[in-house]
Amino acid sequence: MNYTGTIYRPPFEANSLLLQVTEGCSHNKCAFCYMYPDIPFRICPMEQIKKDIAEASTKWPNVERVFLENGDAFVLNADLLEEIAKEIHAKLSKVKTISMYASIQNIKSKSDEDLRRIQSLGINQLDIGVESGLDSTLAYMKKGYTSQEAITQLLRLNEAGIDYCLNIILGGGGKENYRENALETAKLINQTQPYMIFMGTLHANKGCELFEDMQSG
Ligand code: SF4
Repeated sequence: MNYTGTIYRPPFEANSLLLQVTEGCSHNKCAFCYMYPDIPFRICPMEQIKKDIAEASTKWPNVERVFLENGDAFVLNADLLEEIAKEIHAKLSKVKTISMYASIQNIKSKSDEDLRRIQSLGINQLDIGVESGLDSTLAYMKKGYTSQEAITQLLRLNEAGIDYCLNIILGGGGKENYRENALETAKLINQTQPYMIFMGTLHANKGCELFEDMQSG
C-alpha cells in the first residue's frame, strides 16, 4: 500500500482499510490544525489507487469498511468518488461502507444528485470537523463557513441518506464565549442530528496559528 506523509484516521476507523486517495488538505487553513504544515494538497493518481485496492484484495479480502485518506478526501468530485467506489466493490466484495473526512465546503461543491449517487455506491458515512456552532468561533478558527452554512449543507446530507459524525472542539469559544459556544453548538447538533458526535478539548500544538496566538497571550 502506498502512504505519503502522516496518515490520520478517527479512532473508530481502527479496523478499516485505510486507502490513500489524496495528500494533505484542500483547505489547510484552520487555526488549530498542524496536520499538514508542509504537504501540498494533491489528488493521488488513479493508477496508484487501483493498485492499492488490488493489493488490499489479496491481503484483506474480508474487509467490510474502507476509510479514504487524507484530510478532506470528500473534496474529490462525484465522478472520481464513483470510480474509486466501483473499484472497491469490484475487488473487495464484502465492503459495506466507504467513509472519509469531509468539510462543509466539500459538500457544498456537490449537487443533490451527486450526493444521492455517491450514497448509492456505499459512501454513506462521513467524518466532519464542524468544530462549533458559534459564528465568531468558526471565523476565529478560520473554518471558512458560518453556522447556518454548515447546517444547510449537513441537512443536504440527511436528505441524501448520508450519515455523518460531527467533531466538536470543547472550549473552542475561549473563556469569554464558553456558554454561547456550547449553546450554539448544541443547537447545530440538534438541528442536524448526526449519528455520532466526537468531542475533543481545545489544544494547540506547535506549528499552528492558534499556538502562536496562545504563546503571545
Ligand atoms: S479541514 Fe481538517 S485537515 Fe484541513 S486544515 Fe482544517 S482541521 Fe486541518
